[in-house]
Amino acid sequence: MKTKLDRKWLYSAVVFGLTMLVTFFVAFYSYQMQLNYGKRLFESLAERQTQILKEFIDNDLDQIGTGANFFYSVDPQQWSQFGTFADQVIASSQTLITLQWMQKVSKQELPKFMTEMRQLHPHFDIYTIPKDQPLTYGYHMPNDEPIFVARDIYPVNPINNKVLGFYDVRMRFQLMLDNMRVHHQVTVSDKVRLLQDGLRHDIKKDGILVYHPVFDRHNNQELVGVVIGVIRTSHYFNGLMTRTAAKTQLEVRVVDLGFEADDDPVLFESKNWQQSDGYEINTIIELPNRKWSISFRLTEDITVNDQLVLAAITSGGFVIAILLSYIVFLQVRAQSHLESLLQTRTEELRFLVNHDPLTGLLSRHAYNELMEQIIANDQRFSLIGFDIDKFKLFNDFYGHPGGDQMLCHVAETIKGCLQQGDDFVRLGGDEFCIISSVVERDELKRYLERIRLAMCENMVTINGQCVTCTLSIGAAIRRDEDAEQILQLADTQLYNSKKAGRNRVTIAE
Ligand code: GH3
Ligand code: MG
Repeated sequence: MKTKLDRKWLYSAVVFGLTMLVTFFVAFYSYQMQLNYGKRLFESLAERQTQILKEFIDNDLDQIGTGANFFYSVDPQQWSQFGTFADQVIASSQTLITLQWMQKVSKQELPKFMTEMRQLHPHFDIYTIPKDQPLTYGYHMPNDEPIFVARDIYPVNPINNKVLGFYDVRMRFQLMLDNMRVHHQVTVSDKVRLLQDGLRHDIKKDGILVYHPVFDRHNNQELVGVVIGVIRTSHYFNGLMTRTAAKTQLEVRVVDLGFEADDDPVLFESKNWQQSDGYEINTIIELPNRKWSISFRLTEDITVNDQLVLAAITSGGFVIAILLSYIVFLQVRAQSHLESLLQTRTEELRFLVNHDPLTGLLSRHAYNELMEQIIANDQRFSLIGFDIDKFKLFNDFYGHPGGDQMLCHVAETIKGCLQQGDDFVRLGGDEFCIISSVVERDELKRYLERIRLAMCENMVTINGQCVTCTLSIGAAIRRDEDAEQILQLADTQLYNSKKAGRNRVTIAE
């Protein structure tokens, strides 16, 4: 019973396990698909954002270039018109905050230049901020070199006006000039602190400067000034963030790979960059003289929607697994029940076939099988046959039920006399036999006499009358006879007992 119970639990557990295994496989496969799809989307998004950013920058560089072109193509007398032009250029860009004209002034030209400028701006003075030193007024250029002074700054406002008169003495600016003299191309600075934001050193560096050289119209080697476009980089990158971060959780970092940027190369870093972790892609933006490396990081590998799909697959699989295992449980339980019924019935049938229904003794069928077996094993045994004397008379006198009662009485009485291990068979009618392990003739004789006497002495009450019966007994000890021969031998002895007057024991010689 226990194994059947175990089987139904075992089978349903196996079905549950297998279904869940399939479910997890399907969920894992979907997760992989979602992951790959998400990565491909992310890659194309990164590529597109880089392209857009590049277009923004190129646009600003071009705009600043048109400013430089103004000074190149317009007669110096009309340079004062620059303001109208510059305002238009600035208005057309979201990131370009200032356009400046840095005019080259040699040490000799300086007094004339100052006079000229003070007519326009009475408090005009030139100043510079040497590296790691405070703001210093006046001319401080080594080797009497010319300076490039901020002469026109647009749009005109109080903050921009503060930059008027500024010139750069730093080595970096000188290198930039040399580069422009050689390559005649626009130059982009590393990250700088904008003068517009103030002079304090703790202010965040939030700009880049784009230097566009302006050469003399007649002498293409002679640098006459530089147009500087000031770009607020946070505008670029905040835009990058809002354009990328809307759908998935993206982190972005932009690093300047160009010269002079080694000490502080990070142009931009989204808020959670340091703490985040995930799949990363790097793209490069090539500027005329430097490169920016943009890293995009995908912190959530799949979207909430995808997570919901996975949860739905898993819970759906779980429900199916429960249902399937329940069906299997019911099936196996029903099958087990049928099997146990069949087994009970088979055992009942086997008992009926092997037992006499009236006395409960072994039947003729069981006798045949027993005989076959012990003959096959070549066992020594004795076969004792006996028959109730004048049984017909009992039937006639007490009726068939009375006869039955006597048959049962004989069975019970002899059972009480049996040697241990002996088989007791009702062959049919009032005929019985014993297959006995007693094979010594004298012992057998005593054994059978005990049975005969017991039968004579044991009374039974039938229809209110105390009665008894006698038995005619015939026995044979087997040597090498087969089943039929030994039965024949015993039968003959039984017949001899009857012939000799009944109620006696005869054993074959
Ligand atoms: P004998 O001494 O020569 O054996 O005489 P008998 O009358 O006993 O003769 P026999 O052994 O041939 O009789 C068997 C009788 O047993 C015949 C039948 O009426 C009766 N009988 C057979 N089976 C049953 C049974 O199951 N119940 C009853 N009550 N009688 C049975
Ligand atoms: Mg008889």
